[in-house]
Amino acid sequence: MKVLVIGGGASGLVTAIAAAQKNCEVTILEKNSKCGKKLLLTGNGRCNYWNDNQKLDCYHSQNLGEFAKIWESKKEEVLPFFEEIGIVPKVINGYYYPWSNQANSILNALMTKIKTLKINIIYDEEVKEIEKKQKFVIKTLKNSYVADKVVLATGGCSFSKTGSDGKGLKIAQKLGHEIKDVSPSLVQLIGQDPFYKDWNGVRAYAKLSLFQDDCFIKEEAGEVQLTDYGLSGICAFNLSIYFDKTKNNEIKINFVPWFTGNKNEFKKWLKTQSQKLKMFSLGEMLEGFLNYKIVNLILKLTKLKDLNDEKSLDILTNYLFEFSVKIKDTKSFDYAQVTKGGVSLLDINPLTMESKKVKGLFLVGEILDVCGDCGGYNLAIAWMSGLLAGDGLTND
Ligand SMILES: Cc1cc2nc3c(=O)[nH]c(=O)nc-3n(C[C@H](O)[C@H](O)[C@H](O)COP(=O)(O)OP(=O)(O)OC[C@H]3O[C@@H](n4cnc5c(N)ncnc54)[C@H](O)[C@@H]3O)c2cc1C
Repeated sequence: MKVLVIGGGASGLVTAIAAAQKNCEVTILEKNSKCGKKLLLTGNGRCNYWNDNQKLDCYHSQNLGEFAKIWESKKEEVLPFFEEIGIVPKVINGYYYPWSNQANSILNALMTKIKTLKINIIYDEEVKEIEKKQKFVIKTLKNSYVADKVVLATGGCSFSKTGSDGKGLKIAQKLGHEIKDVSPSLVQLIGQDPFYKDWNGVRAYAKLSLFQDDCFIKEEAGEVQLTDYGLSGICAFNLSIYFDKTKNNEIKINFVPWFTGNKNEFKKWLKTQSQKLKMFSLGEMLEGFLNYKIVNLILKLTKLKDLNDEKSLDILTNYLFEFSVKIKDTKSFDYAQVTKGGVSLLDINPLTMESKKVKGLFLVGEILDVCGDCGGYNLAIAWMSGLLAGDGLTND
């Protein structure tokens, strides 16, 4: 059986390997002159390819129930697959990286396997159209190919310089699939407050809570990067998944997440601290637990000079527990690690990845309406859907 895989990224490569291992004759059409351009950028070049903390709420889709079926049937096979191709993992708090600390190791292992399975790769070949006649006819700018089955593994719209420019979604739409609204995700948050230049460059360990129209949505703790446009870092990225343009998005930053008590207890602690450190200015005292740029900003915004009355203690406590940042947007797809939205999972058989609209067509990876949190979950989607498609291609 002749299988054509469109896209040589994470999901396309794994699908091709899984299909070739089941004796399919596989060809990959890749628009770039190399495979896995995005894969090399993952995990800051280290490739965080899996996470032990597999919970369904680390994934996001308008049809999460359908994704649960993909996840349940393949999550146990991912690590053995990588062991099989020689990857020795380095596991840090449940996050998997190749022991070499280089994304290159993952790509090289996949490419070596591709070579040993004699999978044909045609580079610089951008697919423009797929037609289903008795067989599939796949048209590129220069050529036309015929295949029994086709896998669409073109990614979403994120980091288009790596090849995933959203045109694969258009091909899927033209073939009758519903596309759930796409937006940039795992991406920086752009704020609209006037003070960002004051905190630019600070990295703080904090707790961020997202509110939409004053309703609490989600909380994330960890390192946050305070920038001249708003917020970056893993916490901000994970909250970007929930950003909703139609609502007022506000993030409240708790700059004292190490304090385990409530606000009233913190107020008492502040009072005791200021009495203990009488010879310190308020700023000097705050620098005992806050970056000086945040201290200066809070003193500028509150105009506080000391903590001699209850009102001052209240004001400072509120700023430290719930520093408000108004979010107006996210950065664009050019900066986003993943695409939220994509081909509706209701149009896919979640046990084979075969389209319910076009028999013989399979869809895998980021093109689908599912994305994950930071931490190896997005590659997990690519691997799991690729392994499933590998089985699905030979089901009949
Ligand atoms: C900077 C960055 C860091 C990341 N870090 C991590 C991480 O550490 N862990 C994690 O889990 N996830 C991470 N991700 C997300 C993860 O890389 C993606 O979710 C994953 O690579 C998606 O795989 P894919 O195969 O579906 O798509 P892609 O990797 O985007 O591959 C799609 C391929 O299809 C090709 N293509 C597109 N259109 C056509 C066409 N018409 N014809 C022919 N070929 C075509 C493209 O050139 C590309 O090679 C990161 C993403 C970025 C941008």
